[in-house]
Amino acid sequence: MNSPSLKEFQDQVSELLLRHRSLLDVLSKCNQANASVHRSVIKSVTECGCIEVHAEKQRYSEQPDLQEAMGLMQQHIHGKLCDTCKEAVSAELGKNFFYISALCNLLSIDMETVIDEESRKCSTLGLFNLS
Ligand SMILES: [Zn+2]
Repeated sequence: MNSPSLKEFQDQVSELLLRHRSLLDVLSKCNQANASVHRSVIKSVTECGCIEVHAEKQRYSEQPDLQEAMGLMQQHIHGKLCDTCKEAVSAELGKNFFYISALCNLLSIDMETVIDEESRKCSTLGLFNLS
């Protein structure tokens, strides 16, 4: 089966979403789903241990060389998600997308348009898009 387009996914969510028709329900479910993504990443560190967080202050380059600046910026992650944790984080991300899609449906926002706009901004801002 091919991956659905964003439009197809958004329509599918609309058909499935019988319980959370209220904007307030959807907003609170979005928050909950987002927190669950973070929790699953944290559990990869604290319970599984496949990734570790080694954080320190970012060292910015004095030189205006972007490649060098990128090389100095730290991700603060050591290791890689194991298959089990990757599956868990992906599942939580999926729920998050579900409720984001539900929010878009309630507010008549087309997800594809949102992604297109954001992609256009990314190409305009390029490497300077640090926030
Ligand atoms: Zn793991």
